[in-house]
Order: sequence, then structure tokens, then C-alpha cells
Amino acid sequence: MNNGINEFINMHSEKKYAEVVILEYNFDKIFHYCLPQDLKDRISLGSRVTIPFRGKVTTGCVVGFLAESDVKNLKEIAQITDKKPLLTPQLIRLTQWISNYYLCSWEKTLNYVIPKTRKAWLKKFDITYISPQKNLRLPEDDKSSDNEIIFSTEEIKEMPSLKDIENIINNKKFQTILIRGNDFNSRMKIYLSCIRKTLKEGRQAIILAPTEPNLSELAGLLEKEFKDNMVVFEEKIDQKAKYQKWIKIRNSQVNIALGMRSSIFVPFDRLGLIIVEREYSSLYKEERSPRYNAREVALKRAELENVPLILSSETPSMESYWNVQENNFLEAELNTGGERENLLKKSIIDMTQEKSKKKIISYELQQAISRSLKNKRQVVLFLNKRGFSSFMICSQCGYIPKCPDCNTSLSYHLDIQKRAQLICHNCGKRAKVIDVCVKCGSKEIRPLGMGTQKLESEIRKMFTRAEIRRLDRDSLIKDEDYRQILEEFNQRNTDILIGTQMVLKGVDFNNVGLIGIISADTLLNLPDYRSGEKTFQLLSEVISSFREISFPKEVIIQTFNPEDHCIVALKEQDYNYFYQKEIELRKELDYPPFTHIIKIVILGEEKEAVKQRAEYLISYLEFLRKNKESAEFKLLGAVNMVLWKSRNNFKIQFLIKVKDLERFNKAFKKKYDKMLSKHFDQKNRLTIDVDPVRMI
Ligand SMILES: [Zn+2]
Ligand SMILES: [Zn+2]
Repeated sequence: MNNGINEFINMHSEKKYAEVVILEYNFDKIFHYCLPQDLKDRISLGSRVTIPFRGKVTTGCVVGFLAESDVKNLKEIAQITDKKPLLTPQLIRLTQWISNYYLCSWEKTLNYVIPKTRKAWLKKFDITYISPQKNLRLPEDDKSSDNEIIFSTEEIKEMPSLKDIENIINNKKFQTILIRGNDFNSRMKIYLSCIRKTLKEGRQAIILAPTEPNLSELAGLLEKEFKDNMVVFEEKIDQKAKYQKWIKIRNSQVNIALGMRSSIFVPFDRLGLIIVEREYSSLYKEERSPRYNAREVALKRAELENVPLILSSETPSMESYWNVQENNFLEAELNTGGERENLLKKSIIDMTQEKSKKKIISYELQQAISRSLKNKRQVVLFLNKRGFSSFMICSQCGYIPKCPDCNTSLSYHLDIQKRAQLICHNCGKRAKVIDVCVKCGSKEIRPLGMGTQKLESEIRKMFTRAEIRRLDRDSLIKDEDYRQILEEFNQRNTDILIGTQMVLKGVDFNNVGLIGIISADTLLNLPDYRSGEKTFQLLSEVISSFREISFPKEVIIQTFNPEDHCIVALKEQDYNYFYQKEIELRKELDYPPFTHIIKIVILGEEKEAVKQRAEYLISYLEFLRKNKESAEFKLLGAVNMVLWKSRNNFKIQFLIKVKDLERFNKAFKKKYDKMLSKHFDQKNRLTIDVDPVRMI
């Protein structure tokens, strides 16, 4: 039965049966139960109920109602858990969508979304039922001017795009607007006006931030005005606190919720606005099942609830900007920071021109560090994730061997017998390790690899009297040490800080005079079709760490590929140039946003068992290919199956490229449950990741 008919029944017929998803077993199935007379009026969509199941008592969540059921001998629902359901009907539909889109069970999704509760809490924090009628928003046709969101003429002159934002918020309909601007304060100003307007209408708002520092910054600013009207879901919130906050939301005691990715599920029933700050962040992706992306879920929720969505970022994700180009999203650009640019000097160092090929630090960077130290300014040296050494590069001309089919760099890989070879992580293509560069004939081609450790020892040799600290996962054991290194730096007791992405969290850049990006190449050549986008975003973020610029500051980027479009765009701070070049590449190679990618990983301790399961899965997919109901798709990595060894496990990975994801998923899900239970278990695990953000 399709959704439309279901809804019709929900509205017009007597509800006799409930559709229930069982929360304590991993079935991707809906079960039917009879509604007992005495509970009938109290059970609604999203209610948790106690039910008999296979001779036991278990918990389920009501996801629908039926007037008729063709299942015989149905059992009755025994009890109801929550007085008022924790989920709204819209959230039920949203979780269903997630389960279909991200190919995971509805049960897993519901369990992820609903806070874990203990019986004792249920009594303590009971929901007081407030009739939604009381807080109903103003009628749609009430256009009294004090209800309109209005930016001052001064502000609009400064930022003409404010007019668009004004209109969208005033329309109270589903529309996505992408705000582009590198000044957090002007973004904040817009958020504040939009939130005020939403609250005035008697509606509620969700604001998402990708990281804890972003979250606390936003929370600090919002609390000034809305302290008693908001809840914040901190990163390490426990289940009890989370549950309490949900109850506050369900009781309409607060109207603003602020949090990281999972806060997109908070159960407001008069939602009026969603804001996603730094929408490009890969942290919006959940890396455990359900592997959803909060930005995409926000988009779906805004559509389901017919409310405006604000996405904002300094360097928009390719997906979001493509949606602007396709006229699905509106764009508002905030122009800021002319003065700032004058005080900021950016240089690109072409490492192929360096005389000593073995040195990590170029002559120019060394000079700049000395200058900065002399001026009593601090230095941050940035190196991408430690030890990602696995590709080859010619230090004469910057040539990197790439897969001819996928255009991602070939990984330098030692196999189980320690023989070196080059492998494409996408499609499994293999090549011999070369010792002469095919472009310039030089013999200076070798695997590029450097960790922060090696960098630290080189820096220590160069600057013997400087205070040097290193901030990466290797050098840290505890959170305490991390905080101590940060504190030392922020109190200006450290001269040079060497670090990975971690420097972006919590480092005070006010007294920093120089940021050195040691190797743009390690990022650019991740075996990932998104490597260009990731480089541009991450390095833009590193550069914009210089938020307040009151004295001249410098950014130096070292690279073997100074002509790469990402590097050129970074130097010019030209997002449009980057986007145009990047989208052409994506189109040519049929990568997202032109297709969807599904990453399938099989992991197990026994080599043969993993191989067998992979072969089974391939045959399942080949069977699917012949099915007329399925969509066309490409399967990568199946022909040249590569067995990777990671710690104690063997791993096989495939990629599926598909245009019509919805159609593909529908067909794929049909026998998915059977396949899972028959061939996979704790020993041999199958993970499916739709729209992955990490390719390996
Ligand atoms: Zn070369
Ligand atoms: Zn390939």
C-alpha cells in the first residue's frame, strides 16, 4: 500500500490496526498489531508500545495505522510506553526516508533517533500534554508589518542578498537558500533576524553546527538573547540529559534547539526554520549506521515540513553549489573583507624548483618562519593527516601516476609479501611501480610520505632555540595533554606549533603571523574523487583561521603542483574558478553530483570467507542488473577484486555508481534482509554507505 492511500485511511477510516517496527530486533520489516479499545485513542504515530513477539514481550514503535489487515490471528498491543509519543508524525516519515535512502533498516534508524530511556526516567520526566492549539501560529494572511522580517536599508545596501532571505523567511514555505560568506559575524546577524522572526510566528528553529567549538561559539551568541528558550545538545551529552531536553521540546518549553548532526531529529511539532552552519563539513556525515548526512536529512526534513532551510558556508560543497546552478537553491553572497585581504599575503611555493629534494621545508618558508619569530609572532605549520604516504610523485616535475579510468592517484601499496605495487582504490586497477617519470624522464620519482614527526625533527634542527610543540593523534595520549598543548600555545609560550587538522579546533590565531601549509599534495592526491574539493575546503578553512587581522600576516603553501586548479583558486580565493574546473571533471568522469556512489565494504578475519561473501554479493548485484525494476548502475572493483589487509581483518571494497538511486535502492532492498541474515554476521560484516564522504 502506498503512502498516499495510507494517509487517506489514517484520516478517514477508523484505525483498527497498528503498523509497528520492532525496536529490539534488527528486522527491516513492519508488523501488524490490533489496537485494543482502551488504548486506541492514546496511541498515535511515533508511540512506543509493549507488544508480544515470538513468545516474548518486546518494544516497538508505531509507524502507521490500518483499517484492514490481511494478516490472520493478529496479537494486541499490550501497553503504551510514553504518554505523548517522543516522535512526531513527520519524524516517522523522515526516518522511513532515511532507511530507504541510506539502505539501512528502519529499526536501526529509529533506535538511533529516539533517546535511550530507562523506566525510572519515564515517570520522573513525564510529558505534560499541551494542546498545540494554544500555541498555534498566526494565520497565514496576517501580513501586519511588525511580523515581517526586515533588515535595515543600511544593511541591505551593504548586502543586497538580504532581500532574498527576507522574502524566504516571510513566505514560510520550503525553500533552500545557500548563504556564501567568509565572515561569521555577518552570517550570525542573519541567523538572529531569521530566528527572531520564526519565534514571533510561534514557530520553532533547529540550528546545526559541525564541531564542538562551532557549536559553543554559536550557543554563546544565541544564549545572550534566547537563554530560556533554547536547548543545546553538546557533543558528549549523556542519554539522560538528552532525554530531558527532548521532553522540554515535546512540552513546548523551548523553541530553539542547537546541536551537531543528530540534532536534526529533535521533535519540534511546529518547526519553522532549519539552519545548517558550515554545510560543507564532512562531520555532518554519520560514519556508523544509519550513515546519513545531516545536511541531506535537513533538506528532506525542510521539504517534509514545508519550512525554509538556510545552508551556509565559506566554501560550499559541490553538491550544494550545483543545486544553486540548477536553480534548486537560491544563493545569497555576503561581500565582506576588502581590508582584510590587503594585510594577508599568500604565496605558493613550487617545490619542484627547490634545490634539495629531500628537504621538507623550502627556503622561502624557512625565511618566513625566521621573520615571524623575530617579530615575536607565532607560527603554525600545517600538515595533512599523519602518514598518508601512499602515492608516488616526481620531485622534478610533480607528475603523479593516476588511474586512467578514475583520475584518482594510484596508491603505493605493499602487499602481504611486501612487494610494492600501484593500485587504484576505486576500481582495483593495478600497475607496476615506476622508477622513471613518464612525463620528464627523471629518476626522482618516489613515494611521498612524511609525518608530523619527521617534520618536527627537521624544524628542531633548523630552529634550535624555538619552543616547538606538535599536535596530532600520535603525540597525544589523553585529552589533558591536548588541552595543555593548546593552553601553552594560546598563552603564547609556544613559538611553532606543528599539527594536523586538529589545529583548527581551539587554537587562538590572534598572535599567529604565519601559517605554513607543508604539502598541499598529500591532500590533493588522496585516492578520493573529492580530494580536490577537500583540499580547497580544508586549506580555505586553515587560511580563514586568521579571522581578525590587525597586522600583516602570511600564508605559504608548498606544492609540487602549483598549476592545479585547487591551488590557483586558493591563492586567488576564487571559489567560482574552483567550482567551474571541478564540476567539469566530475561531469567528465561521471562522479557526484551527476551520480550517486554507494560504497560496499566486506570485513572479516578469514581471507577465504571474505572472498566468498564478496563473490556472493557480486552475483546478487549481477542478478539485480537483469531485474527490470532496478536502475542501471556501474560496479567498480568487482573485476579486479582487491583484498586489503587492515589490522586483523581482510577487507574488500566495491563502489556502485548509480544515477537513479531511489529506483536502485528499492530493488536492492527487496532481498537484502535475506542476504544479510544468510551470509553476514558479526564475523563477516557488510557495511553499505550511500553518498560516502570517505572513499577508503
Ligand atoms: Zn617528472
Ligand atoms: Zn581506477
